[in-house]
Amino acid sequence: MSPTEPLVLIVSGPSGSGKSTLVQKILELPGTMLAVSSTTRPPRKTESNGKWYNFVSEVEFQQMVQRGEFLEYAQVFGKNWYGTPLKSLGEALQQKKDLVLEIDVQGALQVKQKLPGAIAVFVMPPSCADLEVRIRERGQDSEDEIRRRLERARQEMLSYSSYDFAVVNDDLERAGREVQAIALSSRCRVARTEEHIREILKSFGG
Ligand code: 5GP
Repeated sequence: MSPTEPLVLIVSGPSGSGKSTLVQKILELPGTMLAVSSTTRPPRKTESNGKWYNFVSEVEFQQMVQRGEFLEYAQVFGKNWYGTPLKSLGEALQQKKDLVLEIDVQGALQVKQKLPGAIAVFVMPPSCADLEVRIRERGQDSEDEIRRRLERARQEMLSYSSYDFAVVNDDLERAGREVQAIALSSRCRVARTEEHIREILKSFGG
């Protein structure tokens, strides 16, 4: 029996916790790919379509919802819509790659419900003050947006216990090694490797 779904690694954490950098660390591992989300948020200056996000209109997004094209979707910060296209699962399976989802807590809970084998990692800032400094240093959000992100962070932090792993991002080197270790060890779970194990056992005449 070959697996019918790829290994799915969910990475969540408050905005500014450095989760995108840690997702990049996972993507440095051969055999991994990012699920490109669709969003109604307008692109920032540094963002181009199709790399990290597919930028779509609200109408297009709702049509995708109606057609059942999302594995999960959510309205984040009560404002813009974000969703993971279902087709990314098939693409990962076909390419024999592990699929990395950088999504919020609402989306993570939906994926865990639909795919109980998915592994969820929560990235935590070392403190609230540290998070505020990081968000301000990014310099891409208005004062209103910063307040919204900090309030949202407070709520999101309470959801950590629904996750399989928590990584505190106080030292990027170490946190990077930790997320890579989580990805690599998830690959070796017996439930995922049973087919391969049985082949090996056959070679022993078992
Ligand atoms: P940003 O606008 O800063 O890129 O992302 C805002 C939030 O939306 C982040 O917490 C990010 O993880 C989340 N997000 C990005 N893509 C998705 C997605 O496809 N689904 C869900 N549920 N959240 C997402």
